[in-house]
Amino acid sequence: MSNFSILMNHQISTSIGPTEYHHQAIESGKFLIQKCNDCFTNQFFPRSFCITCTGASLGWEEVCGRGIVYSTTTVRRKIDAGGDYNVCLVDLEEGIRLMGNVIDIQPSDVYIGQIVHLKIETINGLKKVVFKSVPTK
Ligand SMILES: [Zn+2]
Repeated sequence: MSNFSILMNHQISTSIGPTEYHHQAIESGKFLIQKCNDCFTNQFFPRSFCITCTGASLGWEEVCGRGIVYSTTTVRRKIDAGGDYNVCLVDLEEGIRLMGNVIDIQPSDVYIGQIVHLKIETINGLKKVVFKSVPTK
């Protein structure tokens, strides 16, 4: 069992800050958000206190990964500079809004309301949080 599994529903470890803890979780393949143990609000980015009730009792939860594109744009680049890419805002089921990239389809094919799934992938040797489209019937 990893350290993250043990600590998931407990308060933040005092040996490292919440941002470092979150980054270490990504390195182990998990995207964690904080949940307040007092008011049960989810929050992201990681903080030392709850931004809703200011309580300091925060636990961690792994997101399910399912989200809906809230906003999207295509950033245009020359092919030799890497080509066009997508930048979007995604609302996760847990109520968290993240900025990211949908990477498995053409950037201009991403649309508002599209269902996507959060993945952690190794790109150029670094763990990166990305989104992939979820096929609809
Ligand atoms: Zn709270």
